Amino acid sequence: MNHTKSEEIYNEALEHIVGGVNSPSRSYKAVGGGAPVVMERGKGAYFYDVDGNRYIDYLAAYGPIITGFGHPHIAQAISHAAETGVLFGTPTQHEVNFAKMLKEAIPSLDKVRFTNSGTEAVMTTVRVARAYTGRTKIIKFAGCYHGHFDQVLVAAGSGPATLGSPDSAGVPVAVATEVITVPFNNKEEFQLAMEKWGDEIAAILIEPIVGNFGMVMPNPGFLEYVHDIAKEKGAITIHDEVITAFRFHYGAAQDLLGLKPDLTAMGKIIGGGLPIGAYGGKKEIMDTVAPLGPAYQAGTMAGNPASMLAGIACLEVLKQPGIYEELDRLGGILENGLLEAAKKHGVTITINRIKGALSVYFTNEKVENYEQAEKSDGEMFGRFFKLMLEKGINLAPSKYEAWFLTTEHKEEDIIETIAAAEYAFSQLALNK
Ligand code: PMP
Repeated sequence: MNHTKSEEIYNEALEHIVGGVNSPSRSYKAVGGGAPVVMERGKGAYFYDVDGNRYIDYLAAYGPIITGFGHPHIAQAISHAAETGVLFGTPTQHEVNFAKMLKEAIPSLDKVRFTNSGTEAVMTTVRVARAYTGRTKIIKFAGCYHGHFDQVLVAAGSGPATLGSPDSAGVPVAVATEVITVPFNNKEEFQLAMEKWGDEIAAILIEPIVGNFGMVMPNPGFLEYVHDIAKEKGAITIHDEVITAFRFHYGAAQDLLGLKPDLTAMGKIIGGGLPIGAYGGKKEIMDTVAPLGPAYQAGTMAGNPASMLAGIACLEVLKQPGIYEELDRLGGILENGLLEAAKKHGVTITINRIKGALSVYFTNEKVENYEQAEKSDGEMFGRFFKLMLEKGINLAPSKYEAWFLTTEHKEEDIIETIAAAEYAFSQLALNK
């Protein structure tokens, strides 16, 4: 495959855009370096780079593109917004329509607010929880990503239930020490943290089904336990459903798990590919937000007509019968095919799959928490990633990022992907 133009554009980008990319995960640093492929256009499950190569895509732009590229229903909605005004800075009917749609799909939402990104949505839920409880500390789980604001760029402390330390330059130590990070799926450490800090905890920030060190389900009873103790101690439960809302069914992960958090943050899929975030939850907590209450949150672009109309159109597509069943069916074929292909060539992998989202770890251990995900062999994955790319399969350049199926993937795409993977595994086996 020829990547000459991609390389040229990337080299130019390096001179003008820091690191050549507008989000660090887009660089190929984690997969051995090189110029990231520069995309030109997409249609359905495929996209095409500037050198004319075609790829079957499983990145889905890190999740939002669940209906594939250029879906006609969403394209029409965006065109309508372009023609009738993309921004007014006043209320519109679209915001109300979309808020009602989200509330109908996710019963824990009494009221919602739109933002421009998942980061903004999660950041505001933390502020609202602090405003509502009058407390400052939060608990989050190791390896979960909640955006790039200060309070969530915090690494775990040096032992169980210890205060965090900055995970990025520029995050003040004073902010990090307001955050406690505990392992996912570990009741004991969560309990320890709550025993020690419980009365100071404003919120527990949870990815109910983890999407950020691959796809990881909560063990039975784990999140119920977290919710129970949070309630007992007067802490707010926040579900970060930026990845999971509308991923596995028409609704949020919390509904699949039978949980009702106090607050929920969303993003990605609900914007149909345009910038969006949203948060919502219990009326008495949401009423803490300005202009009703003292917790401030605002946004020039928040609730803009283009994002609202694209989001509504995306959910309309997802509401059609059979959509999630098909994602699950194709996901199953892909999972089995990958496992068989790896086995055939003696390559050890573990797959975590939830319907149309799966992650492939180069490890033989089960993956229930970040520490186990970390054991995935990054060097092997890096080689696998590049072999797949050469065969026209685009994955996220990260050893535990999920593969996302879209409504546009067909069985023949899955078959082609499995054949590419079999080739990649055979090459890995040769060079072990
Ligand atoms: N929360 C979760 C669970 C996410 O996966 C992400 C993005 N990967 C975010 C928050 C941040 O969303 P955004 O990139 O839209 O700011």
